Amino acid sequence: MQFKTLPHPTPTPAKTRDAALADPGFGKLFSDHMVVIDYLEGKGWHNATVGPREAISLDPAASVLHYAQEIFEGMKAYKQEDGSIALFRPEENARRFNDSADRMAMPRIPEELFLEAVRQQVAADSDWFPTVDGGSLYLRPFMFASEAFLGVRPAKEYKFIVIASPAGNYFKSGVPAVKIWVAQDYVRAAKGGTGAAKTGGNYAASLVPQAEAIAKGCDQVVFLDAVERKWIEELGGMNLFFVMEDGSVITPPLTGTILPGITRNSLIQLMREEGLTVREELYSIDQWKADAESGKLLETMACGTAAVVTPVGTVASHDGEFTIGSGGPGQLTSKLRKRLVGIQRGQEADTHGWVMKL
Ligand code: PMP
Repeated sequence: MQFKTLPHPTPTPAKTRDAALADPGFGKLFSDHMVVIDYLEGKGWHNATVGPREAISLDPAASVLHYAQEIFEGMKAYKQEDGSIALFRPEENARRFNDSADRMAMPRIPEELFLEAVRQQVAADSDWFPTVDGGSLYLRPFMFASEAFLGVRPAKEYKFIVIASPAGNYFKSGVPAVKIWVAQDYVRAAKGGTGAAKTGGNYAASLVPQAEAIAKGCDQVVFLDAVERKWIEELGGMNLFFVMEDGSVITPPLTGTILPGITRNSLIQLMREEGLTVREELYSIDQWKADAESGKLLETMACGTAAVVTPVGTVASHDGEFTIGSGGPGQLTSKLRKRLVGIQRGQEADTHGWVMKL
């Protein structure tokens, strides 16, 4: 598909942009452009444009505003050592996007069109890379139902959009261990629900338990399974790994209630190559506490695109709290974080073909 370039009448002045790029934070600064592609049932994907990032006009009856047909992805473009720009496993984001589309009764977008849209977005905003150490250009492809119709059925019109947000280091200094709050009163996802899809409603549902976590002095919330209320699932935006003293590592299995993280998948491969036994199996909250207290559990790490690999130091709930290892970053967590960041930024050999240079 040909992308039409629309003129940008008011790009951000270079001086303002460069000042912002020195300290972009996360999710609050936006680049100048956006890619938009329309979908109409019977016509398919059409009208691909790269133009100024601007407000979008929606009919108040647009079904996304009522029935929440919306999906998104989160990925990063990295400046490489040699100055080139690269994406990390973007075809995995395209695949997951289409899995989310299937679950939300939305049209699939051809993988190549998804990738081309992301490439066009990065090319249009190539001068929006943060200048801070550890910075990247966070990309947010998303799709929503734009048809004006109040009946409850899949919409016939959609918009696919990509926006970009320069992002600094997720953590301002070093990698602090996070404190986790166990959501005992709230459920994120049940079998047969939408937990494995990257759709807005899952995140809306996580806001109250996340606020409870903050109120309890924690950074993140961990969700448990919906039925037995004891099996560990994932954090609001990260997957979990439990590192045992016998060299094995446990991570919750992909049973449809957690998001299949691309960082999770990459870490499993890296760990297996290092000779570790990674078991995708259920792990309970009681076992977590018992293993942390007996010393059988050495580390717990949380992983995702935004923060890469982060140590979990303390776990708190209505029943009290426990500490994992020293409460700080463990050996394997630090090593894997370094390896993955190295691959993403072109400082380490990409032996898996994970890096797509643009
Ligand atoms: N779980 C949830 C609920 C998430 O939102 C994310 C972030 N996309 C992850 C896990 C980690 O996924 P990834 O490694 O692909 O960023």
